[in-house]
Amino acid sequence: MTTTENLTVVPHWIDGAEFESTSGRTADVYDPALGTVTKRVALADKEEIDRAVATAKQAQQTWGDLSLAKRQSVLFAFRELLNARKGELAEIITSEHGKVLSDALGEISRGQEVVEYACGMADALKGEFSEQVSTGIDVYSTRQPLGVVGIISPFNFPAMVPAWFYPIAIATGNAVVVKPSEKDPSASIWIGRLWKEAGLPDGVYTVLNGDKEAVDGLLEHPDVAAVSFVGSTPIAQYVYEQGAKNGKRVQALGGAKNHMLVLPDADLDLTADAAINAGFGSAGERCMAISVVVAVDPVADALIEKVTDRMAQLRIGDGRRGCDMGPLVTKVHRDKVASYIDVAIEDGATVVVDGRTVEPDGDANGFWLGPTLIDDVPSTSRVYTEEIFGPVLAIVRVQTYEEGVELINAGAFGNGTAIFTNDGGAARRFQRDIRVGMVGINVPIPVPVATFSFGGWKDSMFGDTKAHGAEGVKFYTQLKAITSRWLDPSHGGINLGFPQND
Ligand code: NAD
Repeated sequence: MTTTENLTVVPHWIDGAEFESTSGRTADVYDPALGTVTKRVALADKEEIDRAVATAKQAQQTWGDLSLAKRQSVLFAFRELLNARKGELAEIITSEHGKVLSDALGEISRGQEVVEYACGMADALKGEFSEQVSTGIDVYSTRQPLGVVGIISPFNFPAMVPAWFYPIAIATGNAVVVKPSEKDPSASIWIGRLWKEAGLPDGVYTVLNGDKEAVDGLLEHPDVAAVSFVGSTPIAQYVYEQGAKNGKRVQALGGAKNHMLVLPDADLDLTADAAINAGFGSAGERCMAISVVVAVDPVADALIEKVTDRMAQLRIGDGRRGCDMGPLVTKVHRDKVASYIDVAIEDGATVVVDGRTVEPDGDANGFWLGPTLIDDVPSTSRVYTEEIFGPVLAIVRVQTYEEGVELINAGAFGNGTAIFTNDGGAARRFQRDIRVGMVGINVPIPVPVATFSFGGWKDSMFGDTKAHGAEGVKFYTQLKAITSRWLDPSHGGINLGFPQND
């Protein structure tokens, strides 16, 4: 790593080694709990994008040809190293993102699940075989790698989100170029070192640090076959459209506004716990965070009392000090989130708890905003319609289950949602009625396990193939159908008609 003005510059990871950028462009990387710039990160230029893709292309040709057994042995070694050393990675995440250490460890474990799924790729890649579909003819299918794939990730899960993709892409024989968020780039470099230690050939896992220029470079590069993107909705839509225009396979996961519908028969203590955990964990900077509680009459007042009691017990502060909730990622983001509290007041909502008054256990310069609770939020308010991505929980009161479902279904996003109830019939009805990609029944953050696939509906996802599980295997491979016959003299003769089965 190089240093400028005594600050480390996070490099790229190309051809199995750190690659110091000569682009002359960098971005600041903060420690959000200290509020200071602690590093800079390189921002790739065209030459570096070309170099990253070229080394990945070359490495893929050998890697994609290796036996599944040999590829899987590297995956197993990587899983063991990750499991043994994840504490180191959690510290890096906390120092650049701000989330508390236990939460950083949690995201690594969810990413590790996908590595474990990819360790079973020999099973997931099994093709189909139909014998004697016509006389003497067998048909079978295989799935083959695409080549070089780009993975562009957001700031909020610097370990988990790239890990939704690279284990499966690599296990299926592709080479990956990861473009992390410039806000917390170091986790991806650490993962590069781990892959090398696990025996992955140089060039199969590449990290290209950068901003829009790197993203556009990957979207335009003729040797990039596919792009997996996760980030805000406008950028996801842009990446989907640009990638598709350039003939690439694209899955682009966007923003969210997740609702929790609380029916009158729900256990309000357990529901209040869930609302706190899902609303304020990771300072609300989760795409599956609950940001709106839809309380069906008459539960709102009792639920608000239980939620506010719990909010008062939360310790906000430096993620290294055993607190419950850390700072927001940057000052700009912190101020933007805080500005929604004024919007709520202007729109006639009631601010029950104002997070701007928080007294954190941390440096005064940190990007602090305490948990905020806003009641009676009108569905026309920007507090309701926009993704805030911070520790702001809105309460909307409705009279009936039907009114709640109608409200949720009218939203632009469709990432996650949850119902809290003890009525099995109502829960089953909800799972069918609701137009959202991931549904929780008494589970507030319904992120499916790695054997299933992750992704929302509507403005929360562009492209039709979701992340990890069977959909991930499908996304990173192309299907080939083979029709085979072993000739004998009975197959001779000229016949220009279209082949028919006999
Ligand atoms: P972002 O959209 O600002 O950035 C995501 C990626 O896009 C980054 O790598 C960034 O460098 C790049 N980027 C930024 N501006 C760009 C531009 N103009 N052109 C091309 N590329 C650009 O998102 P973020 O702030 O890092 O992350 C938070 C967002 O991600 C939230 O909206 C959150 O809901 C979403 N998210 C969604 C999921 C999901 O699974 N649906 C998961 C995590 C986060």
